[in-house]
Amino acid sequence: MVFGRRPASAGACMTDIRLSCVQCGAGYAMGVVQTCTACGLSEGILDVVFDIAAARKTLTRDALAKRERSHWRYRELLPLADDFTPVQPDVGWTPLIEAPRLAQAIGIRRLRLKDDGRNPSGSFKDRPSSLAVAMALAQGAKSIATASTGNTASSLACSAAAAGLSCYIFVPGTVPEGKLAQLLAYGATVFKVAEGYAAAYDLCNEACAAFGWYNRNCAINPYLVEGKKTGGLEVAEQCADDPPDWVSASVGDGCSIAGIEKGLRQMREVGIIEWSARMLGVQAADCAPVMDVWRRFESGDAGATLKIDPTATTYADSINCPVPRNWRKAVNAVRESNGGYVSVSDEQIMAAVRETGRLTGVFAEPAAATAVAGVAEAVKQGVIPRDASVVAMITGNGLKDTAGAMKAVGRAHDVKATLAGIEQVVSESRICERQSP
Ligand SMILES: [Zn+2]
Repeated sequence: MVFGRRPASAGACMTDIRLSCVQCGAGYAMGVVQTCTACGLSEGILDVVFDIAAARKTLTRDALAKRERSHWRYRELLPLADDFTPVQPDVGWTPLIEAPRLAQAIGIRRLRLKDDGRNPSGSFKDRPSSLAVAMALAQGAKSIATASTGNTASSLACSAAAAGLSCYIFVPGTVPEGKLAQLLAYGATVFKVAEGYAAAYDLCNEACAAFGWYNRNCAINPYLVEGKKTGGLEVAEQCADDPPDWVSASVGDGCSIAGIEKGLRQMREVGIIEWSARMLGVQAADCAPVMDVWRRFESGDAGATLKIDPTATTYADSINCPVPRNWRKAVNAVRESNGGYVSVSDEQIMAAVRETGRLTGVFAEPAAATAVAGVAEAVKQGVIPRDASVVAMITGNGLKDTAGAMKAVGRAHDVKATLAGIEQVVSESRICERQSP
C-alpha cells in the first residue's frame, strides 16, 4: 500500500494557474500567500484562475469517458501537479438519483438528488478536505489543522487519515459527544476550547503559524472552493445531455454554493456543456444573513453589506452560520446565474428530512434536506415553475446527526409481543399508505 506519497511541488508544473484577489484583483503565484497582502485576512480572499483555453484542449467528453470515477477526473480544473496521484481516490462521482415520488409530493415535473452523503466520511466536505490534504502534501506538510464542529472536521480527519498526515481539530467546549466519535475514530487530535468557537478558530490559526501545520480554515484557504467546485463539475457532466433548469443548495458560510456555481460555469467555458442552470440558494429562516443581503442587492442597494445577528440560529447545524465569511461569493453566484434565494423554517426542514427519506430512500442530514425544502418553498412562491427540472444537492448523510433526525421523523411503536398489537399498527399505517403519494 502507498500511503502519504508526496506529489511534486505545487508550483512546479502549474505555471498557467494563478491566484487573483476577489477584492482588488492583485495577482499571485500559487503557494506564495493564502490571502491578498494588500487587502488583509478577512477581505483579501483569493480566487484560483485557470487557463481555460488550455483546459479546453484536453478536458473533453471523450477524455472524461476514460477517466477515474472520482472528483480527481477534472485535473485540468484543479490546482494539482501534472503527476498528481490521489491518496484518497474514492472522493466524489456521487450518484444523481431520480426522485419521482418526491417531485410529485412537491408538485414539480422532475427532481434529481445529487447524493453527496455517499462520500467517504459522508458529506460534500470530503471534496474540499481531500483537496486541502493534496495541497498540504504538495507543500511537504506533515500535519493539517482546522477549527470546526461539523462535517469540515470529520472530512478533514478522514482525508488526513487516508494520507497519513497528523490532524489537529479545534472545537468549542460545548461540542456534542456524538460528533467527536467520527473525529476520534479517524485518529485526529481534538482540542476542546472552553471559550467557544471564535476562540477555537483564532487559536487554530495561531497554532498553525507556530507549529507549521497546514491551515485548512476555509475563510483564508483559496483552494477549498476548488474542491467544492467539483460538485458543480459533476452535476454538469452527469446532466450534460439532460440539463436541469435549477440547482438547489443550502447556504451557510456561502462557500459551497459559490463552488458549485463555479463548477457549472467552468464546464460551460471548457465546452463540455452548452447550457447554464439557475442557482437556488436556501437558508434557514432563523439564520438567513446571506439571503437578506441578496434581497437588498436585488432591490437596488448596490452597496449592501452583511448585517450580523450573532444570536441567529437554526436546527440545521451544518448551515448554522450567523457570520458567513463567504457571503459575497454566495450572493454573486446566485446573481450571476440569474437565480434566487428562499428561506425555510426549521419545521419545513424537518418535513424535508422525513419526506426525502420516505419518498426516495436517501437519508439527508437537516442542512442537506434544506435544499429539498427550498425547492418546495420556491415552487410555492412561484420562483421555480412547476414544469421545471431541478437538481438538489444532498450535502450530508443523515447518520451525521441522528439527534437532529429523531426530531424530524416518526416514532417507533411500543408493542407487546402479540400479533394483535401488530395488527392494530398495521391497519393504522394502511390508512396512511392510501393517503400518501
Ligand atoms: Zn487584494
